[in-house]
Amino acid sequence: MLTARNVTKNYSNLPILKGVDITVSKGEIVTIVGSSGAGKSTLLHILGTLDQPTQGEIWLNDVNLTGLSGNALADFRNRHIGFIFQFHHLLPEFSALENVCIPGFIAGTRSSEVREKAAFLLETMGLKHRLEHKPNALSGGEQQRVAVARALINNPDVVMADEPTGNLDSHNARELHSMFLQLRDQFKQTFIIVTHNEELAPLSDRQLLMKDGKII
Ligand code: ADP
Ligand code: ADP
Repeated sequence: MLTARNVTKNYSNLPILKGVDITVSKGEIVTIVGSSGAGKSTLLHILGTLDQPTQGEIWLNDVNLTGLSGNALADFRNRHIGFIFQFHHLLPEFSALENVCIPGFIAGTRSSEVREKAAFLLETMGLKHRLEHKPNALSGGEQQRVAVARALINNPDVVMADEPTGNLDSHNARELHSMFLQLRDQFKQTFIIVTHNEELAPLSDRQLLMKDGKII
């Protein structure tokens, strides 16, 4: 479903990614592990079209992502790729439900449909009783689950997560990971996850070890 071919990235002529090939299938949870500075975040950003490779191609289904730019890229990204970061980046002045809805409104989906889907996703995340809460009234684990629901609102082909458990205690980290497994089983949701969590990474379908800009 997602393919990266010979992806390289240089920052000021310094090679950071040195020819990365990846194929990810629908419904797979792939973790990217490796020491700090190996290039994991850079790779995830490129796979998610937040950054452009110096060379190489990224294909999502039959679309060459490296051929998109401007509004077409922003629109494609919003509809097809979900993002979860270490810090949830929820908008503090909006409720949990509203935060989840926003990417759906941006995609132009009918408002009633977006709200219904958002409520369903928050319910799936065990947050039925938290729909109207603002982010600062939620625990860290709850905030991150709202961020997961937000990442899923447009039925993305793939969710990219950069250290999603990095700011959670081990209990909440395990819960979040179980949620990913549940979403995979229930909706065939695909995830690519950068993680330092040595307990959770082996529970994914496949681990990719990065070292010095390559997958080894
Ligand atoms: P990881 O996620 O594995 O810790 P990163 O992808 O964040 O690694 O970084 C890989 C290397 O690329 C590091 O040496 C980092 O300093 C460098 N790097 C990352 N982003 C930039 C940037 N925007 N400009 C210059 N160097 C960068
Ligand atoms: P992480 O450790 O979570 O991978 P980093 O601290 O490496 O995050 O990177 C945070 C941000 O800073 C990213 O957007 C990355 O591209 C940028 N960055 C990282 N290293 C450098 C660098 N050497 N020069 C410029 N930007 C960098």
